[in-house]
Amino acid sequence: MKKKTIILKRIAKNLAYFFPEHSDHFMCPTCLSPISLKLSHTISEAHITPKYSGGTLKTYLCTGCNSKFGAHQDKWLGEYLRLRASGRSLFSTTKQTGRFSVNDIAVSGQFREAEDGSLQFLIWNNKTSPDSLRQLDQISQTEPLSISAELPVLRKSRQVEVGLLTAAYLMWFKEMGYSWVFQRHLDKIRRQILNPDEVVIDQIAVANMEQEVARPWIGIIEIGTTALAAASIGHHIVLLPTFSTPDIAESVSSLRGQTIDTRRQILRYCDGHNFGQPFGIMYQDKAIVASDSFSGAKFKYVILRYDGVSEEPTIFYPMSEEEYQRMSKESNVSQINITPDTK
Ligand SMILES: [Zn+2]
Repeated sequence: MKKKTIILKRIAKNLAYFFPEHSDHFMCPTCLSPISLKLSHTISEAHITPKYSGGTLKTYLCTGCNSKFGAHQDKWLGEYLRLRASGRSLFSTTKQTGRFSVNDIAVSGQFREAEDGSLQFLIWNNKTSPDSLRQLDQISQTEPLSISAELPVLRKSRQVEVGLLTAAYLMWFKEMGYSWVFQRHLDKIRRQILNPDEVVIDQIAVANMEQEVARPWIGIIEIGTTALAAASIGHHIVLLPTFSTPDIAESVSSLRGQTIDTRRQILRYCDGHNFGQPFGIMYQDKAIVASDSFSGAKFKYVILRYDGVSEEPTIFYPMSEEEYQRMSKESNVSQINITPDTK
């Protein structure tokens, strides 16, 4: 069997827990359209971190979402990650095209870093006004030249952030499947991802790290008393809302300038698509991932609880009311109540 078929069958099996009527279906994790596996040509393998920047993480999307992300978020994120990762001058990775100015005279052209480290500029005469060219000709005889240029990607920081948000959301999907997707508080994130040029989320929570991580990871990060879902890509950590903190907008502004606790709980390196039965994640007494379908669920699910100290989670199975009452009276048991933090 082809690798694609094997993975899509695994994803479909996970979906069938939540929607038995959609067995043998794939559901696009971003637009939530169900697609029969018989129409697998409309399901495509998608790079989570852009191929252009050397990204190797992949998942599946409907072809519509995949081509939209390719044209929007991947384009700028890929360019940006490549520039950051090159470790050389910002000019070195690609030749840049656009407008720049020479002694305050605006010109059109292209610039690049040559093998010997010098910068080379080409001015396109047919796209620069004859007046500018004349001025340029005059001053180049008499004055030293100073050239200033802006990299197009640096004007696209919003697009880069939406790209990082998309990648972070898909990394969690790749690891948790529909247990991650079917959480109502992620609707806003999905709306932002599907409308990359609109401002759905004012402030996308992205923290910059000095060190670049070699392998992207997902995990839990504590900032003050708030535990957030995180995904680390390149020099960045993207923070995502949790069941206990469904709206991180307020936390984001209070996070400014704070250092991130590096005692983060790294859950996975996103090897992915091995999720099987539905599961949720707790960190200490906070619910990080809890699907909407868990309340009154007819299927079995497990809760992985990380205590913040050991790497290995404790595994909880949901139990009947009687069983819960009986167990809660035992001497070695303490009770924890979780309510969504909506203040
Ligand atoms: Zn889609």
